[in-house]
This record gives sequence, C-alpha cells and structure tokens, in this order.
Amino acid sequence: MTNLNDPPMNEVRATMIAALHDFCSCSIYDKEEYSARLQTYLEAWEEYERLFAQAVCPHLHTVDETTGGMHFAGGDVIDDIVEKAHCLDCGKDF
Ligand SMILES: [Zn+2]
Repeated sequence: MTNLNDPPMNEVRATMIAALHDFCSCSIYDKEEYSARLQTYLEAWEEYERLFAQAVCPHLHTVDETTGGMHFAGGDVIDDIVEKAHCLDCGKDF
C-alpha cells in the first residue's frame, strides 16, 4: 500500500500546488494562457487523485494478468513470463 507521505505522493502534491499557484497568478484576460494553465493544474490534480486512490484502496477486486511467454533462442529456453495482479478499483499493478 502506498503511503500518503511517500516521495511520489509528495512530488505529485508539490507539482499540483505549483500548477495551482501558476494558474492563480495568471490573468483571466489572456484566455489562451488561462486555459493552458488550467489544463496543467487539472492534469496534476488527476494524477494526485489517481495516486491518492491507490494509496487508500484496499485492493479488494484484483485480477491476475500474465504477460510474456516461453521463447526458444539458440537452443536455450527463455522464459519472460511475468505474472502480476491488477486492481480493478484503482488500476494499480503489483
Ligand atoms: Zn486498488
């Protein structure tokens, strides 16, 4: 479970606050700049929400996903099968 004070969480929180600060300090009369900064803020907010959801999600609904397979190369068998669980609620992979 992601801790709310983990570096990724802190980083994205700082990005979001910086983007919000940027947004607040721009002129609403310059529409293009206004919407560009608003977009940056919204993206940062969505990323924060996504990480927050992962941090608080109990991951009750997961599915197992398998990628890769068995390959033969020069008489060797290469197995790059990766099994992971994917949470349907928050989208986190384990
Ligand atoms: Zn989850």
